[in-house]
Amino acid sequence: MEARFKSLSIFEFQELFPDDAACLAHLARMKWGNGFACRKCGHGRYCAAQKPFNRQCTSCHYTESPTAGTLFHKVKFPLVKAFWIIYYLSTSKKGMSSTELSRKLELRQKTCWGFKHKVMTAMRSSGKHPLEGVVEVDEAFVGGQEQARGRGNKKKRLVVFAIERKGRGVSRLYGKVIPRASSKHLGEFMDAVVDKRARVRTDGWTGYMPLKGRFKALVQEPCQPKGANFKEMHRIIMGFKGWLRGVHHQAVHLQAYIDEYCFRFNRSFMHEGAFQNLLDRMVASPPRPYNTILA
Ligand SMILES: [Zn+2]
Repeated sequence: MEARFKSLSIFEFQELFPDDAACLAHLARMKWGNGFACRKCGHGRYCAAQKPFNRQCTSCHYTESPTAGTLFHKVKFPLVKAFWIIYYLSTSKKGMSSTELSRKLELRQKTCWGFKHKVMTAMRSSGKHPLEGVVEVDEAFVGGQEQARGRGNKKKRLVVFAIERKGRGVSRLYGKVIPRASSKHLGEFMDAVVDKRARVRTDGWTGYMPLKGRFKALVQEPCQPKGANFKEMHRIIMGFKGWLRGVHHQAVHLQAYIDEYCFRFNRSFMHEGAFQNLLDRMVASPPRPYNTILA
């Protein structure tokens, strides 16, 4: 089987993953392809267990399934449908709402919503690939109804975005919900996603000023009328807001939606491997019970 599934067509996907057994076999290969180590005692030998694809440690006799310790843990519907959700979320241009997934896969909307949130957990940035080169940082209010001026906007939340410029466009994007645009919160976000050597551009906001100590190449440029000097940033923010309105209608779990949007955006230039990349992250992430998603 090809290792990375270059842009996988629906037809190829169906051939590779016709049923739960094929999905389990694939997860087992991903998990133990480089050798077995017991999750309980670390012992390296196993024998077959009762259920196919499960492995039993020959030292402590702990039995482990391919899904144990991953975000597939305790999925209560057919695994092949879970794979379909990951396929749709990683390969469709705009992602898919839980309502649409529910229609396509004949699952309850609530079931799709819950599993989709697990997938969104896996879409969160690893923080291992900070933005480099020319990077722009700006904040915007997101969510809630667009309201007439003076009516208050208590449902809107502040989000800081960072974009990596490439030529005339944008190669990568990260965002984070922050309580206010203080140097503390802006700095924490930038420490996590922006390379210290990056040539950072921001507007004249005082919150960025103290960050010049950490980001030596940070330059503040007063915003020109209509944001003429930050056009790409504004295009990105408009794009995100439009997507959020179109697909999700509300923004209760705003950070998870930002992570989902950035995941897809950051892979849209290298469409290959998005599905396997997301599967890798699902297997590498610890289980997430539903009650932690609802909290
Ligand atoms: Zn063991």
